Amino acid sequence: MRIGIIGAGQLGRMLVEAGYPLGLEFRFYDRVADTPGGQVAPIVTGEFDDHARLAQFAKGCDVVTFDWENVPVESLIPIAKRVPVYPRPDILAIAQDRLLEKTLFRDLGIPTPAFAPVDLRYDLECVLDRIGAPGILKTRRMGYDGKGQARIMKRKDAAAAFTSLDGQSLIYEGFVRFSREVSMIAARSSSGEIAYYPLSENVHASGILDETRAPARYPSLERQARRHVRAILERFDYVGILAVEFFVKDGILLANEMAPRVHNSGHWTIEGAVSSQFENHLRAITGLPLGSTEPRGHSAMVNFVGAMPTRAQALAVKGLHFHDYGKREARPGRKLGHATVVAGSAKDRDRSLARARKLKKKG
Ligand code: AMP
Repeated sequence: MRIGIIGAGQLGRMLVEAGYPLGLEFRFYDRVADTPGGQVAPIVTGEFDDHARLAQFAKGCDVVTFDWENVPVESLIPIAKRVPVYPRPDILAIAQDRLLEKTLFRDLGIPTPAFAPVDLRYDLECVLDRIGAPGILKTRRMGYDGKGQARIMKRKDAAAAFTSLDGQSLIYEGFVRFSREVSMIAARSSSGEIAYYPLSENVHASGILDETRAPARYPSLERQARRHVRAILERFDYVGILAVEFFVKDGILLANEMAPRVHNSGHWTIEGAVSSQFENHLRAITGLPLGSTEPRGHSAMVNFVGAMPTRAQALAVKGLHFHDYGKREARPGRKLGHATVVAGSAKDRDRSLARARKLKKKG
C-alpha cells in the first residue's frame, strides 16, 4: 500500500518513520526535493497548484494525506475524485481560515475566545467597542507559529497593529488570560472508531510551541476536551488524526485552533504512548484498526527552535530521545528538532525535563 504525502516537512518524515515497520510505502510531493521527508522516502517535486502534476502523483498512490496545512484545497479536490484524501478537504478549508474555524467552534457549542472579522480599519474600531482591548489581531489565513499576529494591549495600539497586517483579511480576538494551555489529539477511523490521547499541557514562547508535558491529569478538562473533539470528528466524518488546542480559563476550555493533521504537541507519543500519533494517523487512513493511545509513563517534549544542540550533547542526557529533522538551514523561529523524555513518575519526568531544557540554544 502506497501513501502519498503532500508536504515533506518533519511531520511527513515522522509519518514515514512510523509507517515503515507496518510495511507501508510512501511518496512525497513538495516544491523542492531536499526536505526532511525527501531524505527518507521518494519525492516528486512540483508546485502546490500544479493540478496536472498532482494528479500524476496521486495516480501512483492508494491514499493521499498532507503534512502541511496550507495545501490549496482546490488542489486536493480533483485528487479526492480519484483516490481517498484523508483528512477530507472540507475540514482543511475550515482549518485554513481562523474565522471559519472559530465560527465552527461556536456552531458546535465549543467555547472559544470572543472574535470578530476585521477587513477595514473602521471594522477594527467597531470591534474594539464591542470586544475591547487587550486582544490580538491575526491574519485569517496562512498564520502559524505566531506569524501574522499583532497584539493590541491598549486601544491606541490599534492603528499600528492594523497597518502591520494591512491588506489581508483579519480576525480580532479578545485576549484570554489563561491559566494554562492544553491540547487534545485523537484519531478516528473510517468505521467511526475514536481513540483519544491523554491531554497534553503546552507552553508556547513567542507564539511557537516550546514544551509539552503529558499526560496532563485534569479529569474535568479531559472530559470537556473529549466532548469538543468528538463533536468536530463526527461533524466531518473525519478520518485521521485531529489536534485541537485550548486555553484553560476558570476551569473551562476555550478552543483556540485545530489542526487536521499530526501535531507538534503529540510528538511525545512516539516514545510516550503505546501507538504514536503518527502510527495512528496511518492506521486510520489505511483502514487498519487503531492502536492503543495509552501513555507509557510521564513524558515531556522540548522543541529545538532556531538552533540545535549537537548530537553528542543531546545523547549525553540519559534516557533522552533525540529527533533531528535534517533541516540544512537554521533560521530564527524554525523548528529543527525535538527531544522527549519518558519517566515512571511526574517528578522524575520533570527532573529529566530540566536537563533536556538545558540543551536549548538561542536561535
Ligand atoms: P495561535 O497562532 O493562534 O496558535 O497562537 C499562538 C499562541 O499565542 C497561543 O498558543 C497562545 O499562547 C497565544 N495566543 C493566541 N491567541 C490568543 C488569545 N486570544 N489570547 C491569549 N493568548 C493567545
